Amino acid sequence: MVDTIFPLQLSKSLFMRGIVCRRALYFLLRNHESNKKHTASRSYLAEISAEVELLARKLFPSGVTINVKNTESKEQIDETADCIIRKVPALFGGRFRSGELCVRTDILKKAGDSWELFEVKSASSLKKAYFEDAAYQYYVLRGAGIAVEKVSVMHIDSTYVRDGSLSPESLFRIHDVTEAVRERQPLIAQEIGEMRRILKGNPPEAVIGKKCTEPENCEFKDCCWHDVPMDSILDLRGEGVDKYRLYKMGIRSMADAPRRLLSDFQRIQADAAVRRSNVVDRPKLKQFLQSLWHPLCFLDFEIMQHPVPLFEGMRPYQQMPFQYSLHLVNRRDSGLIHYEYLADPGIDGRRIIAEKLLSEIPEDACIIVYNAMSELLILRELAAAAPELASKFNRMADNVRDLMTPFRERYLYKSKMMGSFSLKTVFRALTGKNCYEKMAITSGAMAMAAYFRLSRSDDPRGRESIVSNLRQYCKLDSLAMVMILDRIEQLVNEGGSS
Ligand code: SF4
Repeated sequence: MVDTIFPLQLSKSLFMRGIVCRRALYFLLRNHESNKKHTASRSYLAEISAEVELLARKLFPSGVTINVKNTESKEQIDETADCIIRKVPALFGGRFRSGELCVRTDILKKAGDSWELFEVKSASSLKKAYFEDAAYQYYVLRGAGIAVEKVSVMHIDSTYVRDGSLSPESLFRIHDVTEAVRERQPLIAQEIGEMRRILKGNPPEAVIGKKCTEPENCEFKDCCWHDVPMDSILDLRGEGVDKYRLYKMGIRSMADAPRRLLSDFQRIQADAAVRRSNVVDRPKLKQFLQSLWHPLCFLDFEIMQHPVPLFEGMRPYQQMPFQYSLHLVNRRDSGLIHYEYLADPGIDGRRIIAEKLLSEIPEDACIIVYNAMSELLILRELAAAAPELASKFNRMADNVRDLMTPFRERYLYKSKMMGSFSLKTVFRALTGKNCYEKMAITSGAMAMAAYFRLSRSDDPRGRESIVSNLRQYCKLDSLAMVMILDRIEQLVNEGGSS
């Protein structure tokens, strides 16, 4: 008899969510109102995964694809069953059900009287969660009467270098995880039993932890965190004490955080939050200002990191700059000049960017970036794309100064920064302006997703709007640096407390 404890079918993604947080699973299955939120970054990741899966299928010739236009899962299940009976050589996107459990498999390959299951991942390494993921699929397939003799995980091989047209054979690494998957079967049964038990009752207690904010904010955070006080210990940033453990122990506010357990930076953050005070180390700020010179360039890049190398000579997930914004101040008394470039998706813009930057940035100019570590990597990528210009880029790299330094090193810290030294937070805290909040794109990850959408869109108006949003966002990043530096100069010149 079919048990109907799960109000909806328990899919693999719901099961995996339930492994991370039972309460999230409860809300998802009970159709909690926050369940409607779908972030842009999630749909971007889903599109990337689908693209990688399509490439993986090329390794299985004569495979049959289940018709996704059949939106009814019942029809997909019937179509899958038909393929299984016909013993097709390989099956893509098969849908199976065992009671209230269901699963969509990436690839099933016929292996004698049995089948081999392949789970395709767009990541570049084998992660622990993939074992649970594959083990759940194996569990449901067995329950549905499918004999699976081997289970493998395919992921992107980060050592692959594109040489000519894309080679799916070299793009993937395949790991046999059959043994680990079989070992986990009792655990999967236990987890499903536990999920069933929880769903019969009231929502589980909110157990606040890293899972609520990583890899992104949980859609139920507003509901679960409504009791978290202002200036809570959970606002602590950076390495140091385990704030979630302290929170569980009942230490809720920043004021109660045991100072001896905090790192130096966390102590500065906690003290500033409690006293509503700021740190302004003028001698250090002055030293930083003295390390800069004119002409001054404020440079910001946007990059793409795609699992599938887009162009010749590229590796998976290689950083590929596709846009920059540059504000130039030639002399102390001169105005701002703005340059920008956005590569057409479909072309490798690295060489054009390299040549344009060399023509726009005056020789021996001081180049201000925010987070030099990542921006220097991009300059290196540009040098690699135009080897005859490499020596000029090396010289440019020597002239890079990092505007993040005064904030990362806490020469300047305001309680409003709440432990963060990201460009957006610092800009808001120092200028009081909320420019980013009004933008359609507010982060590098969103810019990457927008550029990806641009590369796939045929709609001229949609494309126009994406281009405009990308230009506005990148321009604001380099302009924000100009305004932050102005503010530092003011603070140093004021001499009093801010
Ligand atoms: S906010 Fe945290 S506790 Fe609440 S559902 Fe999400 S992950 Fe679970």
